Amino acid sequence: MITRFAPSPTGPLHLGHAYSALTVWKVARDLGGTALLRIEDTDSTRVRPAHETAIYEDLAWLGLSWPMPVRRQSEHGGDYDTVLDRLAEAGLIYPCGCTRRQISDAGAVPGADGLVYPGTCRHRDMADAKPGDGVRLNVRKALAACTQPMQYSETGTSYAIPITDDLLINTIGDPILRRKDTCDPAYHLACVHDDALQNITHVVRGMDLRDLTPLHVLLQNVLGYPTPIYYHHSLITDAGGKRLAKIDHSKALAKYRAEGATVQDIKDMIGWRD
Ligand code: GLU
Repeated sequence: MITRFAPSPTGPLHLGHAYSALTVWKVARDLGGTALLRIEDTDSTRVRPAHETAIYEDLAWLGLSWPMPVRRQSEHGGDYDTVLDRLAEAGLIYPCGCTRRQISDAGAVPGADGLVYPGTCRHRDMADAKPGDGVRLNVRKALAACTQPMQYSETGTSYAIPITDDLLINTIGDPILRRKDTCDPAYHLACVHDDALQNITHVVRGMDLRDLTPLHVLLQNVLGYPTPIYYHHSLITDAGGKRLAKIDHSKALAKYRAEGATVQDIKDMIGWRD
């Protein structure tokens, strides 16, 4: 059994991350497995070295440890390019230069992964890619290329995702696999590849990512990767019931620590029972 905690060093860890990390390590302990730490630092415009250093400090402070070396996705760009080459060969990706503005002007509706891409560039071929173009997965073609039934299990319940289901098409749409301009690999690509590479058997992560799991299962299917078992844990909310998020500048764990909070205080705040 191998699981992982995979934070992005784009902001300080907050109470929600503490809950997530403690859950990952608890599941590993309960199942007699190993918890890995993976740094998902692919978004070169948002990652900061100081946030990565703080991740190591915060997790160690919480009493967690992990095997070394830690996989840092920014060091493995070539791996993700190779995966994209495979998808290009199979005709499952296309170049896209659309800006957010163009996408919303085309009438795109919000979905599980930002705006559902309206398909403006779907007719384009990788052979005609321009420098700085992003790359998108053609979900319809990927669904058609699936050789196995699309299925994954979550905490004992099996969810079958029928290939004819337009869930992916209507609620996620063709996702970005390589970002435009920076050409950074996108989360879905790097995450699915690394879960397979690191032999992750159990993906333990927050409910906020649950609606994206069918997309990850689709990518695993077309790439011939195994599908792990998923467990999406509940999210820590603030007093108003709103999910904690970096974007709202939720109070950093390091700040609580600097103010003299103990690990037990943090556990009490998130209702953690060992
Ligand atoms: N890097 C992602 C995040 O910080 C987590 C990815 C995952 O656990 O699959 O939200």
